[in-house]
Amino acid sequence: MLNDTFRHKGKRQQLAAIVETKGVKDPRVLEAIKTIPRHLFMDSSFEDHAYQDKAFPIAADQTISQPYTVGFQTELLQIQKGDVVLEIGTGSGYQTAVLCEMGAKVYSIERQRELYKKTKLFLSKIGYRPKHLSFGDGYKGLREYAPYDKIIVTAGAPFVPNPLLAQLKVGGRLVIPVGDEVQVMTLFIRKSKLEFEKKEFGDFRFVPLLEDKN
Ligand code: SAH
Repeated sequence: MLNDTFRHKGKRQQLAAIVETKGVKDPRVLEAIKTIPRHLFMDSSFEDHAYQDKAFPIAADQTISQPYTVGFQTELLQIQKGDVVLEIGTGSGYQTAVLCEMGAKVYSIERQRELYKKTKLFLSKIGYRPKHLSFGDGYKGLREYAPYDKIIVTAGAPFVPNPLLAQLKVGGRLVIPVGDEVQVMTLFIRKSKLEFEKKEFGDFRFVPLLEDKN
């Protein structure tokens, strides 16, 4: 069941090396990829796909993000130990685990009830303890625990939701893929109460950030 072997560990070293070749440099991000048993985040019949640098379908028509994409977004966040981080789109919980592994205090929102329940159970089974997993609409952020040092959106957003900018600390960073068919990876750094610096980092493809809950 929750079986992690030397073969898996070896494959993770290779996966981290591939992600590094593609340009992710933060050693703590690469260390997290080497550590987290990604194969346990997907259905066991697809185990062979776990250590390829590819996105893969999970429950409820959603995907576990490509490891390179997870690495790229996480590097842009510049995670420090103890950072309070909000994640939109818990999905499989893999990105959540990466953030936990790096010592962040993680709050994560998922709008598919089935995935929310499944991932909540699973993360506690393998010993990751995000501060809070929430079932709800990420467009609204999570006001109860705001402000956040870092916010990461792991679904394609047609626009930048204002609540996410509002819930960022001054000095904080929001990483969000923005666009419809194709998304531009976008970083916002909050310079002051009213000023944000915006930087763009090329095209990615995500499942859409959806507005109405089911
Ligand atoms: N971080 C995930 C990526 C999952 S794909 C992982 O590592 O596996 C994106 C996820 O965002 C999906 O699970 C999808 O259900 C969720 N999602 C889509 N729209 C959302 C919204 N408005 N609020 C919260 N989650 C949303």
